[in-house]
Amino acid sequence: MKYIGAHVSAAGGVQNAPVRAHEIGATGFALFTKNQRQWKAKPLTDENITGFKENCEKFGYTANMIIPHDSYLINLGHPEKAALQKSRDAFLDEMQRCEQLGITLLNFHPGSHLNKIGEEDCLKVISDSINLALEQTSGVKAVIENTAGQGTNMGFRFEQLAAIMDGVKDKSRVGVCIDTAHAFAAGYDISTDEGFDETFQAFDDIIGFDKLLAMHLNDSKKELGTKVDRHESLGDGYIGWLPFKRIMQDDRFNGIPFILETPNMDRWADEIAKLKEFAE
Ligand SMILES: [Zn+2]
Ligand SMILES: [Zn+2]
Repeated sequence: MKYIGAHVSAAGGVQNAPVRAHEIGATGFALFTKNQRQWKAKPLTDENITGFKENCEKFGYTANMIIPHDSYLINLGHPEKAALQKSRDAFLDEMQRCEQLGITLLNFHPGSHLNKIGEEDCLKVISDSINLALEQTSGVKAVIENTAGQGTNMGFRFEQLAAIMDGVKDKSRVGVCIDTAHAFAAGYDISTDEGFDETFQAFDDIIGFDKLLAMHLNDSKKELGTKVDRHESLGDGYIGWLPFKRIMQDDRFNGIPFILETPNMDRWADEIAKLKEFAE
């Protein structure tokens, strides 16, 4: 099975996310469990928690179909001590929110070196940040997302994701989420059959499909290798439909959530329906 959905709004409370996912025909979904542009958030209420669990049950969503995204402010590879601690505290809070909601996956961007430490050192800081969060929680996996490599963001090469995972002590609680637009912007040409084959062969060699815990399905507004992160609706960007069709028809990608983060929400229901059709 493939669980196909979108990153839906949690406005009015996280309990509304599964309702919105159901409305667009999604069989999986992503959400923010707090405002993604603020450091501080109110704790989840009992109403949030029981409402979320009840709605998930009502619409048939189980933990393997749900993957929240953490706040954009968090930088687990921050080169400065105080700022790093702030990010680590916020990340722990995100993990604990997942625990409260019965969610087992948390998706995040690895971090940025800000030109103040080397790439290798930054990757080590990120691994340590993940270790600290895993030690203080249970049942939630850290799911590292590949990036477009914009600015000083790390995680744009499969080798970098592998290096971060290598530094994580509990290997059973770490994996990756591959964003198609980020991969393309980072230089992986998944828009052709040959490029697709090469990219996912490299992925399997360097990371392994057993570590693929989710995917973000987005087309790209920017061309191959530009390192600029701009999502586009499926089929409307420089990637085209080819890889989305191939992913849906490939059993190596079974058992995980596929999340649209495409810009036009009004098209999500159609995009989901088309992806489901490919998967049949
Ligand atoms: Zn992301
Ligand atoms: Zn993404």
